[in-house]
Amino acid sequence: MSFEIIDFHTHPFIENKNNICNYPGTSSMSAKNTFDVMQGLGVSAICGSVVEISNADYSNNWEKIKANNNTALELKKIYGDFYVPGFHVHPHYVEESIAEIHRMKENGVCLIGELVPYIYGWSDYSDSDFSEILSEAGKCNMIVSFHSRDDDAMDKMVQNHKDVIFVAAHPGEKADFLRHIERAKMSENYYLDLSGYGMFRYGMLRKAIDTFGVDRILFGSDFPTCHPGMYIGGVLMDNLVSDSEKEKIFSLNAKKLLNL
Ligand SMILES: [Zn+2]
Repeated sequence: MSFEIIDFHTHPFIENKNNICNYPGTSSMSAKNTFDVMQGLGVSAICGSVVEISNADYSNNWEKIKANNNTALELKKIYGDFYVPGFHVHPHYVEESIAEIHRMKENGVCLIGELVPYIYGWSDYSDSDFSEILSEAGKCNMIVSFHSRDDDAMDKMVQNHKDVIFVAAHPGEKADFLRHIERAKMSENYYLDLSGYGMFRYGMLRKAIDTFGVDRILFGSDFPTCHPGMYIGGVLMDNLVSDSEKEKIFSLNAKKLLNL
């Protein structure tokens, strides 16, 4: 059986400064090349935010966020249906973040993130300013994809915002993964994407499906920091997972979530 694949977790780029590949010199990399690589692997669409490690070109983090969000909109023009843009918000810039939610909504964007706080100088998901931004995100029907960190703060964030759909990135090692399961069992609005650490442990995916169901698991790779082929293989060749479950993980769940 062949599967349609949507990569829910990527960080596309136009300029090199937004390319987070650990080994960027090993091949030619560009917006066109990302499309070719993904098509070659059978990935029909990618989602996610544009990120930037260095602060060199900016006077503050909000300036950097605006630039990165604008690049996401530019990429949407280049990629069309191939790309579902995600954008950043920041708890130190509440008013600006709320205005950004509205600007993105007007541009047809419904995905916040992946949020990567450590790159943008913040850390606390249970922060009251961040909570204000999430309330607005809920009113605007935004989906919030975020980098997993600090289990207790994530618990609070998810419990305090039942009207927001959260997608946690990275199952992680066993202790973190078990907390993801608890959070998912506690909150129907909690999803998990498979990027980053976790997938290489045999039985992880089966455990996720058996504990909180297959409908809230999304395929993601974290390209270009990780190789999508490894994650595709991890799902495709998992003998513990049925074809209909694989179909949901690879594309059906993302389509439903993003109205694709
Ligand atoms: Zn990421």
